[in-house]
Amino acid sequence: MISVGAKALTNFVVGGDLKDSVFRELIQALPVAIYMTDAQGRLTYFNPAAVKLSGRVPELGTDKWCITWRIFLPDGTPLPHDQCPMAMALKGAEVPTGIECIAERPDGTRFWFTPCPAVFRDAEGRILGGINLLMDITDRKNAETEAAEQFRAIVETTPECVKIIAPDGTLLFMNPAGLAMVGAASAADITGRNVYDIIAAEDRDRFREFNESVCRGAKASLQFDVVGFGGARRHMETHAAPLRHHDGATVHLAITHDVTERRQAERAALLLRAVVDSSDDAIVSKNLNGIITSWNKSAERMFGYTAEEGIGQSITMLIPPDRLGEEPEILARLARGERVDHFETVRRRKDGSLLDISLTISPVRDAAEGVIIGASKIARDISERKRVERAGLLLCAIVNSSDDAIISKDLNGIITSWNESAERMFGYTAAEAVGQSVTMLMPADRLEEEPEILARLRRGERVEHFETVRRRKDGALLDISLTISPVRNSKGVIVGASKIARDIGESKRTRAALVASEARFRQLADTMPQIVWTARPDGYIDYYNERWYEYTGFNRNVFGHAGWEAILHPEDVERRHETWCAAINAGQPYNIEYRLKDKNLNRWRWFVGRAVPVRDTEDKVVKWFGTCTDIDEQKRAQEKLRRANDDLEQFAFSASHDLQEPLRTVKIYSELLASRHVDGASGEARQFVTFVRDGATRMEMLVRDLLAFTQVIKMDDPGDEIADANDAVKEALANLAGAIAESRAEISTDPLPAVRVHGMHLQQLFQNLIGNAIKYRSPQRQPIVHVSAERRNAHWIFTVSDNGIGIAPEYKENIFGLFKRLHNSNEYSGTGIGLAICQRIMDRYHGRIWVESEPGYGSDFRFRLPV
Ligand code: ADP
Repeated sequence: MISVGAKALTNFVVGGDLKDSVFRELIQALPVAIYMTDAQGRLTYFNPAAVKLSGRVPELGTDKWCITWRIFLPDGTPLPHDQCPMAMALKGAEVPTGIECIAERPDGTRFWFTPCPAVFRDAEGRILGGINLLMDITDRKNAETEAAEQFRAIVETTPECVKIIAPDGTLLFMNPAGLAMVGAASAADITGRNVYDIIAAEDRDRFREFNESVCRGAKASLQFDVVGFGGARRHMETHAAPLRHHDGATVHLAITHDVTERRQAERAALLLRAVVDSSDDAIVSKNLNGIITSWNKSAERMFGYTAEEGIGQSITMLIPPDRLGEEPEILARLARGERVDHFETVRRRKDGSLLDISLTISPVRDAAEGVIIGASKIARDISERKRVERAGLLLCAIVNSSDDAIISKDLNGIITSWNESAERMFGYTAAEAVGQSVTMLMPADRLEEEPEILARLRRGERVEHFETVRRRKDGALLDISLTISPVRNSKGVIVGASKIARDIGESKRTRAALVASEARFRQLADTMPQIVWTARPDGYIDYYNERWYEYTGFNRNVFGHAGWEAILHPEDVERRHETWCAAINAGQPYNIEYRLKDKNLNRWRWFVGRAVPVRDTEDKVVKWFGTCTDIDEQKRAQEKLRRANDDLEQFAFSASHDLQEPLRTVKIYSELLASRHVDGASGEARQFVTFVRDGATRMEMLVRDLLAFTQVIKMDDPGDEIADANDAVKEALANLAGAIAESRAEISTDPLPAVRVHGMHLQQLFQNLIGNAIKYRSPQRQPIVHVSAERRNAHWIFTVSDNGIGIAPEYKENIFGLFKRLHNSNEYSGTGIGLAICQRIMDRYHGRIWVESEPGYGSDFRFRLPV
């Protein structure tokens, strides 16, 4: 087809006419502008499409080279007709394909076209003529221009930097946004400059490599810093692609964002994250429904839930049931845009334990619109602070309830705190004192103490119980004892001092009074004939009077119990020691007899040692007061008496016992004398015999009673023996049966108890008392005797009552003495021993016997025995 076409075309051109109508018709109908020329370039043919395109009808044979009216290069430079591509081709030049030109029509309109000139040659290669096809590319070109315009508009207005860089780094283009980014005033500032100059030094090599690789055809991205013309450093992120430049070279097209802010934001976010995570406070955010949206490390530690467990849950999981009411309140405040500051509350950990916390909750707003979208919560664990606060309150209470003034001062001596006792003690209120120098409390003559005290504090020393004088606000002087301790801060540096001031005025006065009273006491004690000593509560003897030193001959510097063993009788040492120790332990007085050696006579003397505790108002033993009283004389007298009594007892016993025998002889022979010789004897002799017999009978009674009397103390302790008083009365009555019958006495007895005495003694008691009740009956009436017993507390009181003659009050004591009688033997027989025996029995049992009587009416004899 081509070879046929080419031959036909050659014929057609060279022949100068169109013999082949098929060709002719075909070319005429083609919508492409076609014209032909001869070897000299004169137009020989054109088709209708060429007329239409060029906007003119050319003159064949006259017009040369082109059918167009005027031709321009794409950049607008006019192109003379003889230099147009067809002319060049006819002149034998090689014309590249794809040339684009602009032609102007006579009416002034322009169009883009691409020429496709071709020449015909003869067999020798000579040019015979040419043919040119003009492809109308106006539409394409317009579209291209439009796209370029659009592109330019985009490039001009985009906020990103658009730039084109040559392989060597020369900046070929940069849009206005880019110029602004690098601080260039206009394109002139940068065109032709090397981009590397504005790349930060540390990024320059990287950027050069990047540029070169893009110019070799790679697509890539890079982050780097630029230092603009104003010196401002910006962080950039560039996305680059290779671009084919119109000069054929491949250049670097880049779209670059200024990511400085984004990077700052990222860094700030990282920083914030780090801050949030490293905070000791739990930082939690939640949305307006109370759903947790973030949860930092401290929240994990504080509440025991991990971030996974916490996020997505309702914040109410942390709220103890009794605090649930807080949440709606908090949400309502947040919704109003309010901040909740340092709200102290209690929250619950995962393990159920409760936590004191302080919450600060701020609304979180959407960055763009400012709408509240949630809240950030900072929870601080204040358990420790609460504990400290409580402890602080306690300390405060202690400080204020102290009777001592408690003051703190700094190292310049300026008062920093002042408690209530300080107000009372010194008369300044806290407001008056704090901020003042402590020297205001010092009398002029004590001022030199302060530098000394401060120096000691600076060395970290404590000043203890330093007794000094301070001045009150009213000028009065005060005796005080100071205890001052350095106060250190948390790093251990001494920053001040705490001072405890105790008013010792009172104790000083007390001490003075004590000294005075002690002096008086010693004066008194020294004049006493007894040994006097005082001891501390622990038993250490701290004072002896003169008498002690005189008696013992000890050194006056010796106190305590030194020397006691040397002067105590060996048999008394242990007993005294035990008694004294027991007394100290019990805080009870003691009373003990012991022997002490008289240094002058070198012999033992009996003493009664007594000690009493001295107690303060709180009943605490503060001292012991003791005496040793010489009872040696008394002891000896007692001893003598005891021996005499023993002798007497012995004598009475043996006398009464030994007298019984001769008495019986006298009695028997006087009886015989009376029965055998009474008839022959004179009336006088008979009377004498009767006297002898009566005397002997009375003597016999006396001896019997005396013997009974001495026997009372000879019996052993009854031990566990218990005597039934009913039995004792029965036996007594049996012994008295004769007298009862003779006197026709009426005897009655109540049921009686048993008591811890010898039965024998109880019987003697009743026999004597009932016997007396019958004997001392009234002549006017029948004797009535009643025996009874009554319990009173720990005692039984026995009563023998009669209706006899009674006893006058003045004899009520007397009658219990030995041989004491109110009547002679002619009136009432008797020995005066009966009641004495009763008394002796009662003494033996630590009982008591007495009489209640109304003379002429009767008597009640009572005796008391322990139950
Ligand atoms: P006596 O052997 O004289 O009875 P007592 O020691 O028994 O000696 O009594 C001392 C004196 O007490 C008696 O002499 C008597 O005067 C008086 N007396 C004792 N009992 C009674 C009594 N029940 N009524 C009146 N007087 C009594």
